Amino acid sequence: MSSNPENSPSSRSVAIIGAGPMGLAAAYELSKKGYSVDIFEAGDVVGGMSASFDFNGLEIERYFHFICATDFDLFELLDELKLSDKLHWVNTRMGYFARGQMCDWGEPFALLRFPFLSLMNKIRYAMKVMYCKNLKSFDHLDKLRATDWLKKWLGETGYDMLWHPLMYQKFYDLQHEVSAAWIAARVQRVAHSRQSLFKEKLGYLEGGSETLLTAMLDEITKKGGSLTLKKPVTEVTIEKNKVKGLLIDGALKPFDHVISTIALPYVSAIVPGLPAQDHEKLNAIKNVGVVCIIMKLSQRFSPYFWLNINHPGIGMPGIIEYSNLNPLDRHILYVPYYMPQNNEKWQWSDEQFRDEIIAGFRVMNSGFDEGWIESFHVSRCYHAQPVCTPEYLSKLPPMKSTVEGFYMADTSYYYPQDRSITESVKVGKQLAKHVFDSDARNV
Ligand SMILES: Cc1cc2nc3c(=O)[nH]c(=O)nc-3n(C[C@H](O)[C@H](O)[C@H](O)COP(=O)(O)OP(=O)(O)OC[C@H]3O[C@@H](n4cnc5c(N)ncnc54)[C@H](O)[C@@H]3O)c2cc1C
Repeated sequence: MSSNPENSPSSRSVAIIGAGPMGLAAAYELSKKGYSVDIFEAGDVVGGMSASFDFNGLEIERYFHFICATDFDLFELLDELKLSDKLHWVNTRMGYFARGQMCDWGEPFALLRFPFLSLMNKIRYAMKVMYCKNLKSFDHLDKLRATDWLKKWLGETGYDMLWHPLMYQKFYDLQHEVSAAWIAARVQRVAHSRQSLFKEKLGYLEGGSETLLTAMLDEITKKGGSLTLKKPVTEVTIEKNKVKGLLIDGALKPFDHVISTIALPYVSAIVPGLPAQDHEKLNAIKNVGVVCIIMKLSQRFSPYFWLNINHPGIGMPGIIEYSNLNPLDRHILYVPYYMPQNNEKWQWSDEQFRDEIIAGFRVMNSGFDEGWIESFHVSRCYHAQPVCTPEYLSKLPPMKSTVEGFYMADTSYYYPQDRSITESVKVGKQLAKHVFDSDARNV
């Protein structure tokens, strides 16, 4: 950096839109280098999809979060923030409720015992997992559609048993648009998170994601950064292809750089000054939403952390029994319903979800009693998961836009990786680096 005060980092101001993990990670990196950082968040808490809420006396995430053994960017950040001792690892179990039977899943013996696949299908499935696990690059899968690719590996019957319920109940009519690279990267992340071939190993943060979010925010504010909650940014002002600042409560607040970390489909509306080709790309991006139910039960529902469901008549796609990963004093279950926002269930009331879940629980566990439910809460997120189509990165506008001083990213840029906090941290760092590089060029 130049010694010219005009160009020194401390005189360069950065606005960050969105206080999810990515926005905070970018702000944290920038404040370390002496930038003056102001974060604007529409919600009333930090964290975005990883935010916590008061669930009748238990501070817990609206959406569950587990950590995998390959979440290296997260580990590095935890280390830097002296939080590594808050990271705990547990041998978790996966289950599969299929055709009325509760089966173990997720390890070789469970696969061998699984009653609804032929030996040939089991071999094909195991080979597919090993193949994904050992992939060094996902490039050759980037052009393929997941449904075609999975059927090639598993055949129609294997696909119908194992993947169709997952693909259909997340993407519905959009299932054939998903890229094979994205699925392979998901399989690889979980396949690497093991203690041994026979034991799955997942991690959690003591205090949940809040522990990390609070520590980042503390560091940012210590270095002079600010956070403003309940402040949705309505416009990024651009003049002569250069960022001027943000329109806040009708007045222009000037900034040298603006970083947006909000879901891409929202960006076009608040940054009218972007080039036409960026608007076109932004408007073409599809996301599915999520309705995620969290319950506090007085009894354990199953021994599994992750339970997939493939049973006619049960509408819920799966259960995450979070307390089988993070030992809390109550049994905490999440039931995430992903879906395109035009799905009829998107309009369902909380009561309709509750009724469907209770009916499903009764089928799956004959001992289940509605009286076990001590608390029940529903969270909804409109843009929860981008539909990552083949050659997805080429369909995104550049992170560093052609408008000087404007940068954008959301979970789409993790591609081929799926959404995760480790990827939020990684992309947050990349956004900060774009700012450093652009200032270095301008001195
Ligand atoms: C059901 C579910 C399960 C998940 N499970 C895991 C898991 O097990 N492990 C894992 O690592 N990750 C998991 N994730 C993913 C993880 O939560 C995300 O990757 C991460 O939160 C993304 O962070 P982000 O900052 O990019 O975006 P977000 O968290 O979406 O943050 C964006 C922020 O921008 C704000 N905003 C929007 N518009 C405006 C505006 N106009 N002005 C100001 N602010 C605005 C939003 O309110 C939000 O706070 C899960 C997500 C979901 C939904």
